[in-house]
Amino acid sequence: MDDCIFCKILKGEIPSDKVYEDELLYAFRDIAPAAPVHVLIIPKEHIESANALNAEHKELLGHIVLTAAKIAKDLGVAEDGYRILNNCGKNAGQTVFHLHFHLLAGDEFKNLV
Ligand code: 5GP
Ligand code: ZN
Repeated sequence: MDDCIFCKILKGEIPSDKVYEDELLYAFRDIAPAAPVHVLIIPKEHIESANALNAEHKELLGHIVLTAAKIAKDLGVAEDGYRILNNCGKNAGQTVFHLHFHLLAGDEFKNLV
């Protein structure tokens, strides 16, 4: 998708602070962190939102959650806890229409939801 910010990040056209990458996923620090640890985990495939998911994405979704847990461990926040969050659509506050999961951790995120 030519006008998608996260596709541009994947292509290296917009710089990002990478924390993890494999053949299916890319994870990087949120530019406007809402918590001391705020990482975005995105599929390399452009998927607009959770509304565009289907049964073929089951494996990808499992991989995203397992990777979020691995990143939390690697960043040293797994023990104290973290939140994995997806905003779908405008009423949930989705602003970037490339599927992404927020990984939030640290002392100051507890009152988000
Ligand atoms: P949403 O509100 O769609 O769930 O989350 C989009 C997130 O992407 C926001 O937390 C926002 O700060 C982040 N974001 C938007 N543009 C950029 C960018 O260019 N770089 C990075 N690292 N994060 C971005
Ligand atoms: Zn995209």
